[in-house]
Amino acid sequence: MGLAGRVAHLEESATLAVGERAAKMKASGIDVVSFGAGEPDFDTPEHIKKAAVDALAKGATKYTASSGIAPLRRAVAQKFERDNGLSYSVEQVLISCGSKHSIYNALQALVDPNDRVIIPAPYWVSYPEMVKCAGGEPVIVQTDEKAGFKMRPEQLKRALARRAKAFILCSPSNPTGIVYSPDELKALARVIEETDVWVISDEIYEHLIYGGARHVSIATFDGMKDRTLVVNGISKAFAMTGWRIGYMAGPREVVEAAAKIQSHSTSNPTTVSQHAALAALEGGLAATQAMAAEYVKRRDVIVRRLRAVPGVTCVQPEGAFYAFPNVSDLYNGSVRGSGAFATALLEEVHVAVVPGEPFGSDAHVRLSYATSMDRIAAGMDRLETFAKKLRG
Ligand code: PMP
Ligand code: GLU
Repeated sequence: MGLAGRVAHLEESATLAVGERAAKMKASGIDVVSFGAGEPDFDTPEHIKKAAVDALAKGATKYTASSGIAPLRRAVAQKFERDNGLSYSVEQVLISCGSKHSIYNALQALVDPNDRVIIPAPYWVSYPEMVKCAGGEPVIVQTDEKAGFKMRPEQLKRALARRAKAFILCSPSNPTGIVYSPDELKALARVIEETDVWVISDEIYEHLIYGGARHVSIATFDGMKDRTLVVNGISKAFAMTGWRIGYMAGPREVVEAAAKIQSHSTSNPTTVSQHAALAALEGGLAATQAMAAEYVKRRDVIVRRLRAVPGVTCVQPEGAFYAFPNVSDLYNGSVRGSGAFATALLEEVHVAVVPGEPFGSDAHVRLSYATSMDRIAAGMDRLETFAKKLRG
């Protein structure tokens, strides 16, 4: 008896766990302000829901090709051409059950036991765990908060000095919201060019970007397209987290290997969701831009309020919908570390945040501002009270 070795050091998803805990408290009648799981509070746009209803009426209830329906794979290829200037054939596109699944498949296709995978910290909680699921070894590279949490080319070079199989990049970033500039990406690409490392570029927040920041895919730089898997999805851009559709595009051999893995695990992503995703990708970005316009207002408020709390600092997020404040100056008494901070905040003032530790920094907590202005104001009032108490 006993479990497989690969689960011995596996952590459950902290982002999902916080969401579930907050939902349970709410169900028991407690007024919880949730800055927990990163999920748009907006509903899926009507034209997308209608496309799904129409597809159901037409019998979209059966299996499809395991890699996804041809029109959706074509629409994804067109999306990459239109938004990113990247040309892929339909065979270079794989539709999966969320971009989390795309990244999982990519790592299963690339990583052998003990292969090293470089991940800049702070990172999205699932990257190291998915590397471990593939038997690989996550190599965490700490970035400097003062340098805006961005990995510098020298750091990447140093990490690559010991052979690595892959490098995972996320811009705009979950949890920090930082966005690499085209020049910064180019400098990383130059380092990668001299090696034989694969790149997994998670671009799920590409359309949620604010102010002067601009999203560029690292795959567009010289020599990068043949070694990069670009991962994206509809969850964030179109408020479609529950539909579970994500996709990857990249070198044909890797995409086909990932497709084989998918064919023996999930088979096709849910048929009706694929039709909804097709409507999303073909329907333009008006709804996305309207949501982004709301997020930026919320970002401005939450960052201003966070920075006004004595003992709290916060790097300016330029994309996604997260703030990742440093709260370590508030640690006091039994509240030592981000886990204890998040637990006390939830229990004492009913505000849910995700501890920074599973993102690779115990000095921080993550707040998702994909919630209304009213809830942001209420949550920040409570956080202020809590911080004051901690400072004594
Ligand atoms: N990548 C990042 C950086 C994320 O924050 C998330 C969480 N939603 C995902 C991937 C997975 O999203 P989904 O599976 O819903 O496409
Ligand atoms: N990615 C979101 C988050 O970071 C949703 C939860 C998850 O899939 O981890 O909160």
